[in-house]
Amino acid sequence: MTARRNETHDPDCIFCRMVTGETPVEAVYESTDTLFFRDISPKAKVHVLGIPKRHIVSLAHMTDDDQLLIGKLIHDATKVARDLGLVAGGYRIISNVGDDAGQVVKHVHFHVLGGERLGPMRC
Ligand code: AMP
Ligand code: ZN
Repeated sequence: MTARRNETHDPDCIFCRMVTGETPVEAVYESTDTLFFRDISPKAKVHVLGIPKRHIVSLAHMTDDDQLLIGKLIHDATKVARDLGLVAGGYRIISNVGDDAGQVVKHVHFHVLGGERLGPMRC
């Protein structure tokens, strides 16, 4: 995979390494500022993660300047859900923020879950 546009990356961050191409990733969808790929440990039939290419720790770390980026991430998540055939059945978008929410990877991401009845929260 070719190296992607280098913005602000943390060399110790697994998701940043996917953005730079250091860690191979099969993109489900990619734009200039977002990247979507399948979760390595899926919690539903369809489980995709969407990230900004720029390293931002969580939604709580986004600033006023990131308003467009947050919107773009959610917009792209709905596009990915549509492309993966999730619209008719419905789907869920989740972003864990911080320790109480169980955020493990400290690079902001949205989980897109669907393809089956989801029931209570899974991520
Ligand atoms: P969270 O608990 O919200 O931080 O979610 C982190 C998610 O990243 C989990 O669902 C993991 O399964 C997923 N994950 C961790 N490493 C990878 C990886 N290398 N490729 C794809 N998904 C990953
Ligand atoms: Zn990162």
